[in-house]
Amino acid sequence: MTFSAIHPDPTFDRAQMLRRLADETFDVVVIGGGITGVGVALDAATRGLKTALVERDDFASGTSSKSSKLVHGGLRYLQQGEVRLVYEALHERQRLRKNAPHLVRVLPFMIPILTKDGVVSRKIARLLGSSMWMYDLTGGWRIGKMHRRLKRDAAFEHLPTMPKERLASAYLYYDATADDARLCLTVARTAAAAGAAIASRCGVVSIGKDASGRAESVVVAADGNEITVRTRMIVNAAGVWADDVRALAEEQHPDSIRPAKGVHITVPWAKVRNDIAVVIPVPKDKRSLFVVPWGPLPDGTFQHTYVGTTDTDFDGDVDDPLCTEADLDYVLRALNASVTTGITADDVTGVWAGLRPLVKSASSGRTADLSRRHSITTNPAGVITVAGGKLTTYREMAEDTVDQVCERLDIRARCVTKRKRLIGASGFREPTAGSPAAHLALRYGGKAAEIESLIASDPTLAEPLLPRLPYVRAEAIYAVRAEMATTLDDVLTRRTRARLFDRRATVDHAAEVAALIAPELGWDAARTAAEVDAYLAACAEEVAAVTAVVAVAAVPETTVSGDTTP
Ligand SMILES: Cc1cc2nc3c(=O)[nH]c(=O)nc-3n(C[C@H](O)[C@H](O)[C@H](O)COP(=O)(O)OP(=O)(O)OC[C@H]3O[C@@H](n4cnc5c(N)ncnc54)[C@H](O)[C@@H]3O)c2cc1C
Repeated sequence: MTFSAIHPDPTFDRAQMLRRLADETFDVVVIGGGITGVGVALDAATRGLKTALVERDDFASGTSSKSSKLVHGGLRYLQQGEVRLVYEALHERQRLRKNAPHLVRVLPFMIPILTKDGVVSRKIARLLGSSMWMYDLTGGWRIGKMHRRLKRDAAFEHLPTMPKERLASAYLYYDATADDARLCLTVARTAAAAGAAIASRCGVVSIGKDASGRAESVVVAADGNEITVRTRMIVNAAGVWADDVRALAEEQHPDSIRPAKGVHITVPWAKVRNDIAVVIPVPKDKRSLFVVPWGPLPDGTFQHTYVGTTDTDFDGDVDDPLCTEADLDYVLRALNASVTTGITADDVTGVWAGLRPLVKSASSGRTADLSRRHSITTNPAGVITVAGGKLTTYREMAEDTVDQVCERLDIRARCVTKRKRLIGASGFREPTAGSPAAHLALRYGGKAAEIESLIASDPTLAEPLLPRLPYVRAEAIYAVRAEMATTLDDVLTRRTRARLFDRRATVDHAAEVAALIAPELGWDAARTAAEVDAYLAACAEEVAAVTAVVAVAAVPETTVSGDTTP
């Protein structure tokens, strides 16, 4: 049977979704296709509500593709006294591991204990030890392994680029990781399979109200047309744009979100050589960064290591957060204080910058100290806004939100997402670590069979999509046929994560990838060229921000990856 004979996913067809948005009346329309919005759509659809979700760009194109990619309680939130948040997050971590075992993977973490002038601070070691116990007791144990202390030599093996003379010992504990954009897309597809009408590139431009002032519809712009979507309730899950959406139905812009920028950088793994994630301190700042290996290879090594995150107030254009030269310096300085390989801007192969949609509090402290708990508010027009929270806790945020939707609609329907397996969980078999099969299995789970069937119909699709990266050509085809990718950037940045890890490879081969997907998307030569131009311009802007070159269109002389073109 050919791939097209078994249509990849008829429940996730954008044209069909747009027709449904125009024709049907929904119980709830969710605005925003980040992890919060897709979580709400899944919860609502699986409770039997007639559900729609509209995303103005691509799924996860906001913050949900730019996180640290950890499904965790967050040791540092315990240190800030947020015991309940950590307890709930660790519970969610466990549920996600069961419901999406292909995507949410256990990741060991090491916290090195360093000496200062040859002496270990007993106070720091004791504090860290108690935090470890608390983390385990708060729910860390659910992962099946407790923390332990590592001797100096064992710790050094996990990060052999450390200055060994400063290393005293370390703590090892366990958390989990997931490709954030893929998790978001998978939740969206699961919601669609449960009956939700979900469309990307479908932004809300206005909210319609009835005579009593209650919101009763949203108008979305899609493909140059406007569609009025009729609904009984609206959930605003627009992340850092949530205030802008609220302003469509309120007299004033509410100004309730405080965006905090966080950046990550990617370097070749050989420069760091960590076989597990490591938490490193930032000198002269009471913060730490994660150093995470990415792209496992069959010999136990990795392709890249990414490092982040910063946490700073952001008052720029929320549509376009960028990693600046100062951000890069901050991360490199911290990294070089913990490794001896002298990593420079020229080693950096990728960067990403995201905005945390933190809810403003009375205190005006650092964004790093603001709570990661979520808030749910309802405005006089009846629009429910859910904001804040974490990738890890999206399911719980969704449950709380849909409880309120049901209450307002006077519907009794229990949440069923605690045990709802996400698409790909069924048919997933644990692969051999680092094998070629593992790459597909850990991205698509049981759906990897659909990629394999594509390859069976055309063996050239087994060839690499880009040099130095694990993706195959079939994945780009699958992205546009089955995963609602509609642009070159969707394929290179979110369906694959190629741009985050090796921007140079994507820039060099953007035209080839565009030519591969063009027939699938019905692009003519002009449209294909425009897609490539748009992608290169976005990469050039990213490079320019890091190298402090102001002109966006100009190709900088030097770039963070040592390139001379973006
Ligand atoms: C640097 C960083 C690191 C992080 N690391 C972690 C981590 O490791 N683990 C963890 O648990 N959490 C982490 N987080 C937090 C987590 O990433 C966020 O809480 C989460 O992604 C927010 O998702 P969201 O859906 O609320 O927002 P978004 O993902 O931004 O989604 C909002 C969506 O709304 C859409 N939208 C806006 N306006 C409209 C409109 N008018 N019509 C239709 N759609 C619209 C946008 O296009 C966007 O896609 C991190 C955050 C940052 C910034």
